[in-house]
Amino acid sequence: MKARRISKTLAALFAALALGSAARGDQPGTARIAHWKDDSKAAFLLMFDDSWPSHWQVAVPALAARKMTATFYINPGKGEYLKFKGKWEKEVWTNGVVLGVHTMTHQGVKDFANADYEIGECARIVAATGSGKTPRLISWAMPGVGPGKWNISAEDLQTLLNKHHLIDRPTFNGHGVVYHLQKTEQMLALADKAIASGGMEYLIAHGVERGPDMNWGYQDFWAWKQEIFFAVLDGLAQRRDRGELWIADHISYHQYVTERDTAKIATTQADARRIVLSLTCAADPVFYDHPLTVVCTVPAGWRTCRVTQGRASSRVESKNGTVMFDALPGPTPIAISPSL
Ligand SMILES: [Zn+2]
Repeated sequence: MKARRISKTLAALFAALALGSAARGDQPGTARIAHWKDDSKAAFLLMFDDSWPSHWQVAVPALAARKMTATFYINPGKGEYLKFKGKWEKEVWTNGVVLGVHTMTHQGVKDFANADYEIGECARIVAATGSGKTPRLISWAMPGVGPGKWNISAEDLQTLLNKHHLIDRPTFNGHGVVYHLQKTEQMLALADKAIASGGMEYLIAHGVERGPDMNWGYQDFWAWKQEIFFAVLDGLAQRRDRGELWIADHISYHQYVTERDTAKIATTQADARRIVLSLTCAADPVFYDHPLTVVCTVPAGWRTCRVTQGRASSRVESKNGTVMFDALPGPTPIAISPSL
């Protein structure tokens, strides 16, 4: 009896020594879900409407050069789209940007059947791009049309959005480049507002200014001056590189928020050999499959860790006594162990 008690005490002592003291007094195995991906302070979305040629001529290369994403809302029935159909459907999205649905023609809808075509056919074209996974969530932007041109009710629209797995994006009000916001400082002030509040902000653009060598006969609408466009992208990239902003496409943002808001994290094992976490959420895993960022305290001696979830495995360096990694909410546990 006595010997067993002593060995138990020794085991507890050994465990405490082996785990060591963690940063900020947190016990090893203390885990939290980051409010935004990569534990950024805020999220920021860039959106471009109407499939103007300047999107792939100017915007996409500028975004790719800065390893930045954006959502491009296309109208596959419009002339300037049809002329460059191959660019949109085979090339644009391979640069890390995402396409969204803005109806086939941008001319409005006559009735329910016509709306089902305008929305559903555009959704079908978008679904074939990117990961190509179907069904999956796709971003929806309501086109601005003239009086009498949108002839279905709000309920009918919601029925069609549900049918085609579309998620409504935030409103244009107050966020339109050129229309509401003209100066670099005004646009970057939105990013700083999001950082200060820990929330999300966004910009909605139409055309981007093209050089004389790119004036191919299709006029861009509300063209964003290149000088200002590049300065805004550089300002956003600086904030991202400081760990302040997660620059996301609309659906990734929507998935992260939806999953995070019902997610639960629990530590099921924490000893000198490994930490095991369970990460779950209430969202439907068919549509909500975006990884969440997890931050977990590890023992002081664990400089490099191996993080394993099912078949996914990665090496992560610890920083200030914590490791940060992405994991999928679901039934598969996450194991963290020191990497030799
Ligand atoms: Zn539009």
